[in-house]
Amino acid sequence: MRIGTTVPEYRYVRTGEPPGYRGGVEQDWAGTYTYTAPVVRPRDVAHLQEVVRGATAVRALGTRHTFNGLADSPGVLVDLTALPDRVDVRPDGTVAVTAGTTFGALARELHRQGRALHNLGSLPHISVGGAVATGTHGSGDRAGALATAVRAFTVVGPDGELRTVQGADVAAQAVSLGALGVVTELVLATEPTYDVRQDVYRGLATADVADAFGAGDSVSAFTRWDGVADLWVKTRLPARVPDAVAGAPRDPESRDRITDEIVGNVTPQGGEPGPWHERLPHFRHDSTPSNGDEVQSEFFVDRADAAAAIAAVAAVGDRIRDHLVVGELRTVAADDLWLSMAHGRDSLAVHFTWRRAAGTHEVAIPAVQEALAPFGARPHWGKAHTVHDLPAVVPRLAQARELFDSLDPAGVFSSPRLVALGVRSSS
Ligand SMILES: Cc1cc2nc3c(=O)[nH]c(=O)nc-3n(C[C@H](O)[C@H](O)[C@H](O)COP(=O)(O)OP(=O)(O)OC[C@H]3O[C@@H](n4cnc5c(N)ncnc54)[C@H](O)[C@@H]3O)c2cc1C
Repeated sequence: MRIGTTVPEYRYVRTGEPPGYRGGVEQDWAGTYTYTAPVVRPRDVAHLQEVVRGATAVRALGTRHTFNGLADSPGVLVDLTALPDRVDVRPDGTVAVTAGTTFGALARELHRQGRALHNLGSLPHISVGGAVATGTHGSGDRAGALATAVRAFTVVGPDGELRTVQGADVAAQAVSLGALGVVTELVLATEPTYDVRQDVYRGLATADVADAFGAGDSVSAFTRWDGVADLWVKTRLPARVPDAVAGAPRDPESRDRITDEIVGNVTPQGGEPGPWHERLPHFRHDSTPSNGDEVQSEFFVDRADAAAAIAAVAAVGDRIRDHLVVGELRTVAADDLWLSMAHGRDSLAVHFTWRRAAGTHEVAIPAVQEALAPFGARPHWGKAHTVHDLPAVVPRLAQARELFDSLDPAGVFSSPRLVALGVRSSS
């Protein structure tokens, strides 16, 4: 069954303009990066192919929730959110979805048709194509990154032709950082829809967090690295939930906040049952996620090192706290996707929402990178970091570079940033 879903109310919710378009300047969602390339908004796939054929350098742009110049191009950018959304639930239980569609729009349509995804990230506002390209994840001991649901995808190659990627090639090419072409459509695995309850346990000792991730299906610990954490536990129903986790009591109320600086935009808590897509994300789709005036960074370590890594960050807590809005700890199941941050190892993801203020880039981010370096921490591709020794921590980086170079020998989808990361050889 083919359905056209259009969600303009979520597209341009803040300004009435395309997201990231501020008075004629094209920026990322948070305004932390101004794209150097002009942005083209293709009318349809044929127009997109025409743009790629006519460009010496071109890269894809999703909803711009990346906190760096990852998407930027020395040529032009093509905004995939300009193309009409399409969500096509198929008889084999998969869904074909256009790359610029947000997870929020996809999820509502899936739920309406009795289907669901295995997990979601903290916000439903991000595009499917952009989230898959960077290895975006939610939380869950048994839940892989969102790209683990990809079964196939269609990409515009450097010659402007459409190519289908499926089978074993998906593991090599799904998390691409946009380095091998412009993805137009993805086929994702789905499952029957389910309900979830969300409960918050307040005042957990940070030292107990490493052992608390089994408390539900998707667990996050929010902390300002002051010795205590709030544990957000999302549980598929039917299920019983504990009254306390490691001595931290369950809060019966839904408080609609993460910290004093992130208020009025979170999904219902207090155990109130609801559909998966209204509980798995932290942020509601009808409001601005997180704080908005921020920078984020995130680092992935082996789950086996979780307690030691948490202790290492706690030890620099006093140095980073002034720069921090809030930190979050999540788990991600190991996968086989070449450039996924959870490649080959069950992971603890250590996230930081920083203030956009002096010292964040100079003091705070280097401090946590240094603390986590002994654990072979992998940076989130879409967030702020200055990790230089990527070949040491991204095991299939050289293999991915070789593959991307062979698929795009002229470097149409390359950029100076991709070269600096080691994802492409030349731009
Ligand atoms: C408030 C907030 C909360 C966040 N929460 C999470 C979270 O819970 N978990 C997490 O892992 N991350 C999180 N992120 C980071 C975010 O999920 C990633 O940066 C993600 O890539 C954003 O998707 P996007 O569509 O905005 O991508 P963009 O920023 O537009 O692009 C990102 C990359 O993907 C490429 N790309 C985009 N579309 C395509 C396409 N169609 N074909 C080929 N390449 C493409 C671009 O070229 C670029 O390299 C969060 C970000 C914000 C702002």
